[in-house]
Amino acid sequence: MSSKLLRPVARVGRQGLLNGRILSPRAYGQLRATPSAFQQALHATSPRTDWKREEISEIYNKPLMELAFAAGTVHRRFHNPTAIQMCTLMNIKTGGCSEDCSYCAQSSRYQTGLTATKVSSVESVLAAAKVAKDKGSTRFCMGAAWRDMRGRKSSLKNIKAMVEGVHALGLESCVTLGMLDERQARELKDAGLTAYNHNVDTSREHYPKVISTRSYDERLQTIAHVREAGIKVCTGGILGLGEAPSDHVGLLHTVATMPSHPESFPVNTLVPIEGTPLFRRTKPIEFDAVLRTVAAARLIMPTSIIRIAAGRTSMSEERQVLCFMAGANAVFTGEKMLTTACTGWDQDLAMFKRWGLVPMKAHVEPVLPKGDSAEVRIDQTITNDIQMPQWQELAL
Ligand code: SF4
Repeated sequence: MSSKLLRPVARVGRQGLLNGRILSPRAYGQLRATPSAFQQALHATSPRTDWKREEISEIYNKPLMELAFAAGTVHRRFHNPTAIQMCTLMNIKTGGCSEDCSYCAQSSRYQTGLTATKVSSVESVLAAAKVAKDKGSTRFCMGAAWRDMRGRKSSLKNIKAMVEGVHALGLESCVTLGMLDERQARELKDAGLTAYNHNVDTSREHYPKVISTRSYDERLQTIAHVREAGIKVCTGGILGLGEAPSDHVGLLHTVATMPSHPESFPVNTLVPIEGTPLFRRTKPIEFDAVLRTVAAARLIMPTSIIRIAAGRTSMSEERQVLCFMAGANAVFTGEKMLTTACTGWDQDLAMFKRWGLVPMKAHVEPVLPKGDSAEVRIDQTITNDIQMPQWQELAL
């Protein structure tokens, strides 16, 4: 186990009770000596990448208020809890994609009414990046709708010029260009790219129900190329693809057991697009599942930036703030996501002001806590995580 524990003690209630049963001194002692996965996550002062799926499931399924509060505690240990990064995403090549991602407006397989375009000019992209910077964004992301970068030499040249220009503006740069090989990843690194986005979307089990034209392992391969090139990894998921809660656990397990955690974990919720297979086929995701995913991600990947991405426009301000309290610390802001609506800069800045939040600067790194500075805070705020209070048992 790679995480360090500040206080490896499991509490089991005032009188050694577990779910209403009196424990023998031996069982009580064993429980005290073996911290639960939840407690390990709560007390960690460094990330660990050897999570078992059952451990993540235990964390994900905690009573929600306790989970969110614990996530907020960990968040405060590793990040400035008042800083939220504003990121702007630009679609630099719309539509006409050969892939069959069943949620996507840009697949050429579905009649979504979207008109395909060519790659945007470097000048227009840098003009948009300048606007985003002036409005308060510190990360500028560029997305192109295609399967991979094969045979796209001149596009890659232009994209490298975009990355260099965004970098020169002092912004973090991120691109999402489908599958990459090692050489292409190295070229983007040489151009100064901060991060590469390639979502795994969902769990390995649910994935074939959503996409058939590229495999889960192909996605992981691209992410490995990005990591090997020394580019930061941005990979996350989409909630609301008809998956079960166990698929959220599976998604979290995939990213939290990568050789290093992704520096960026975007949490999207499905925006149903008319013409795509998932339009009307799935129920909207419930907010408690979004909050659970954010909070569990914060607990198991304490140093990652968690971004509330597509679908945020359907979330009330209060729900967004709950996500910020539970560890989310970035939003996509601007005129548009790739093809869907986006909350604007002014609206977000007004929200930040109301809640005492500030826009995060570019290139901020999480802080790895030293010593026991977090211990007092934890002991003051977190209570027993094994014994259910009696009133709660009665209510169930
Ligand atoms: S999500 Fe990306 S790869 Fe999939 S269809 Fe849309 S643009 Fe193509």
